[in-house]
Amino acid sequence: MKAVIFNLGCKVNQYESDALAQELCQRGYEVSSELEYADIYVINTCAVTAEAERKSRQAITRCLKHNPKAKVFVWGCAGEYHPEKFQKPQVAYIWGAKDKSRIINIIDKENNPLSDKPHENSHSSFRTRAYVKVQDGCDNFCSYCIIPYLRGRSRSRDIEEIYREIQSLSQHNAEIVLTGINLTLYGKDKGASFADLIRRIKDIDVRIRLGSFHAEGLTEELLDALFQLKQFCPHFHLSLQSGDNDVLRSMNRRYTAEEYVDKIKLIRSYDANAAITTDLIIGYPTETQKMFENTVEFVKKAKFADIHVFPYSAREGTAAAKLKLLPKDIVSGRVAVMLELKKDLQKNYLNANIGITQKVLFEEESKGIKSGYSERYIRVYAKSDAQTAEVLPKEIYKDGLMGEVII
Ligand code: SF4
Repeated sequence: MKAVIFNLGCKVNQYESDALAQELCQRGYEVSSELEYADIYVINTCAVTAEAERKSRQAITRCLKHNPKAKVFVWGCAGEYHPEKFQKPQVAYIWGAKDKSRIINIIDKENNPLSDKPHENSHSSFRTRAYVKVQDGCDNFCSYCIIPYLRGRSRSRDIEEIYREIQSLSQHNAEIVLTGINLTLYGKDKGASFADLIRRIKDIDVRIRLGSFHAEGLTEELLDALFQLKQFCPHFHLSLQSGDNDVLRSMNRRYTAEEYVDKIKLIRSYDANAAITTDLIIGYPTETQKMFENTVEFVKKAKFADIHVFPYSAREGTAAAKLKLLPKDIVSGRVAVMLELKKDLQKNYLNANIGITQKVLFEEESKGIKSGYSERYIRVYAKSDAQTAEVLPKEIYKDGLMGEVII
């Protein structure tokens, strides 16, 4: 029996989709993540914005185009948030976001794979990157965010269990991305800390990259541990959302603009060229033109390597959903300004890395030129026969840097 797992949303969703794929293979299903013909489709949905929810619903139609008789299983945050919106004849089951691992039993109960011999798992071949979820849920209740209502309170996986998983994955993957809904809260429910976890995995020789992180959780103790890893990727996706203190307060974020700047300085005291990227919500209901300009000035000064720009999306059930929305043209005008700034920041960061050796994991090849991400999350292009190489960038090329292999 063939199953397609269609993944939307965050790295935690990606991890859960990968884990489900492994389990289904163990139970004899042929599994793919490509949108193609299948007997069953499992859609791992997202509800972080209205657009993400719309894409989750649209995914049902896109899957059924390949097999109108197939069974569809809806899974995850959008299924938890608005199950009623997914009720369609072909949808065999709608499962939420709180205890996602149990969906395997439902799929199995609904279907019995024609063979119980484990199926060759396309996921066991050597891959570039694997995600490891170390924490789920969140306790922060930022005013605009629906996630704590969907995924529940923060809960951490056991350090030894994570250690074993990373050790086994490091046999098949060149890079491990540590991810969670709020990594900063890791260990709080177990009397441990994220720094404890990092210290525990320090002898595993595999590239370690962090998923999104929060400024309030970045400490010298943690940075000491991170920079002692064998292969740490100095790339911090440090969620900012706004550069204005009044907006940050209204969002119920846990830092001020000044505290965030201190964290950037702290990171750069360990690695002056570390990649710092961020998320920005533009057009938050209480954001005035002056507050928006404060954010623009903040972003310019912070010299981010890249910024992800999201127009505010009201999520019913959150504290912010009660606030009056800004006019659409105001929001889109501000988003356009930020997207122009994004291009400049990307170009400046690429220029700043010309002549600085990059450790690259090649993932693609086209016309004899390989490309992949460096430890600073820069797309690097070069001629090479290897899967990994140290490359000296010479010039900006497409969305990254073109260079020559030096080792
Ligand atoms: S920290 Fe805030 S934005 Fe992030 S998941 Fe928690 S509530 Fe949502």
